[in-house]
Amino acid sequence: MQVRAKIITHRTGYAFICLLLFCGFMSHAQVSVDSTRLMNALKALSSQEMAGRLSGTNGISRARIFIKNNFNYAGLHPLESNWFIPFDMKAKNYPSQGVNVVGFLKGESDSAVVVTAHYDHLGVKNKEIYFGADDNASGVSVLLEAAWLFVAKKTAPKYTIIFAALDAEETGLLGGYALVEYLQKANIPVKLNVNMDMVSKGYKNELYVCGTYHYPQLKPLVDLIGKRYAKVVLKLGHDIPGSGHDDWTMSSDHGPFHKQKIPFLYFGVEDHKYYHQPTDTFETTPFSFFYHAAETITCFLNDYLYQ
Ligand SMILES: [Zn+2]
Repeated sequence: MQVRAKIITHRTGYAFICLLLFCGFMSHAQVSVDSTRLMNALKALSSQEMAGRLSGTNGISRARIFIKNNFNYAGLHPLESNWFIPFDMKAKNYPSQGVNVVGFLKGESDSAVVVTAHYDHLGVKNKEIYFGADDNASGVSVLLEAAWLFVAKKTAPKYTIIFAALDAEETGLLGGYALVEYLQKANIPVKLNVNMDMVSKGYKNELYVCGTYHYPQLKPLVDLIGKRYAKVVLKLGHDIPGSGHDDWTMSSDHGPFHKQKIPFLYFGVEDHKYYHQPTDTFETTPFSFFYHAAETITCFLNDYLYQ
């Protein structure tokens, strides 16, 4: 961008052409993740105060307020009069209600791209906090970062973007099911779900994209992102039916979208030694991988929504 700005000369015609080129470049410009903001979100969401964000606890209430404040300050609008959309948990040994946090950015079309990440985790067990930095403070941090970046573009995306931090994923994707039901009742057509769950601890520098087996129309764009932006290795897969645990089609909140035949892409890393352990902390995060994963996902969204 700086290089383009420098070549504008005093010759009016030439300057005008350059200005047009510059504007065109600006509107499609790659988004640039703010690493400080991203890491601060990860740190806050996986902090002791949030106490592992178990559904129905004070810890998750704090996380919910943090997310709402970020949505609000970034400049999203709440989908309802309230940022919080409660739903019945219908699960044993859990509080009766879960709460999704949902905001939106108006696009040229009322059809929506729904970006999701669950913000609940396992809480405290045997006096040990399960901080859930990778699972899934990481996905929520990228969700917040995407909200900041896309509002700041000040141009309407092609589709309305719904940003949803979901509760009770660990209890059986309950927040995901509740959101899909809510969107259907509200008659909001959904073009695509992009779900993020565990996007920071990629120890082989690999980030998986699951979903193109079911929705092959999305493959060319994912391939393109892999080639153009990825400082991580973007791998397609984990979506072949009948492959048992290797099939992640129903493993997180994209599952309820897929069940309704709504196309999805799920970004996530493979299981690692910190998975569902108290050691899944901010400190054990490989920051460089996380930053590049965030950049890759936001670049994909940018391409899909603005080009
Ligand atoms: Zn998770």
